[in-house]
Amino acid sequence: MHEVMCQEVECQRPVVARGLCQKHYYRARRRGKIKAERAFGAGLDFLCNIPETDDCIVWPFGHFSNGYGSVKFNGRSRKAHRVSYELNIGEIPMRLDVCHNCGIRPCVNPRHLRADTRVSNMADKIKHGTHSRGSHNPNVRLTPDQVARIRQRVHNGEKQRAVALDFGVSQTQVSRIIVGLSWAHEAEKTEHD
Ligand SMILES: [Zn+2]
Ligand SMILES: [Zn+2]
Repeated sequence: MHEVMCQEVECQRPVVARGLCQKHYYRARRRGKIKAERAFGAGLDFLCNIPETDDCIVWPFGHFSNGYGSVKFNGRSRKAHRVSYELNIGEIPMRLDVCHNCGIRPCVNPRHLRADTRVSNMADKIKHGTHSRGSHNPNVRLTPDQVARIRQRVHNGEKQRAVALDFGVSQTQVSRIIVGLSWAHEAEKTEHD
């Protein structure tokens, strides 16, 4: 069956609306070239209407187990920050990661995103304490047992600041532990899509 292709130059994706594929349709909408006439879901609408701010914008929908936001795009579940980059900035250059300058994995603010090499991305993760190596991470000086106790105490209603003081870590580190950023043991998954 012959599928109609997107009219953007060199785009091979099937058309979803206005002669454009999902990505180019959304990008045109984002740039105000066309009015919204089709909805593909709250997630994509969210990514097309990101407010102008320098604060982190934490993805309010589903997440992957490693903390990245998940969004359905062109029929697949993809990392929300990567889709945010594509819609708000442009194509992700081949073989580059989309990295967080803020170190907050669920953040989708395009101002905090940059396309960079894998090596530089790993350096970032170590700096931000989001590299998944548990106690091998120089920024995480806590044992798995301490992490479990931190989670338990915050879960029981103790203030993060108080718990942080007791364990000699920063409140930021406690927050990261609570949202699962600092203690993801799963292997570093790469996404090249
Ligand atoms: Zn297209
Ligand atoms: Zn951010």
